[in-house]
Amino acid sequence: MHEMSIAEGMIDIINETARKHGLSRVEKVRLRIGAMRQIVPDALRFAFEVLGKETIAHGAEIVITDVPVKASCGDCGCEFRVEDRCFICASCGSGSVVVTAGKELYIDSIEGE
Ligand SMILES: [Zn+2]
Repeated sequence: MHEMSIAEGMIDIINETARKHGLSRVEKVRLRIGAMRQIVPDALRFAFEVLGKETIAHGAEIVITDVPVKASCGDCGCEFRVEDRCFICASCGSGSVVVTAGKELYIDSIEGE
């Protein structure tokens, strides 16, 4: 379950950011997670709950925005959405594609007071 180590790293960032901005409470954390990361949202929320205890991140609402996988074709330049891990150009059928979105994994914003 890699969600644990992801949550651990994110809690470090949240705590550090909160300290820097003088927050005493974190209310909401917005995350952007690409579909290629294969993260189970419930597992990540659970990891936050367990690991966030006794930190400033405790009790924060975790809002997850899913980023769909997109790729662009090296042959025709078409940009398309990847469904079912099918990395083949939707317009010309070429297999020479580059993933342009879907690998995201970062904190978008932190709200608190
Ligand atoms: Zn193409």
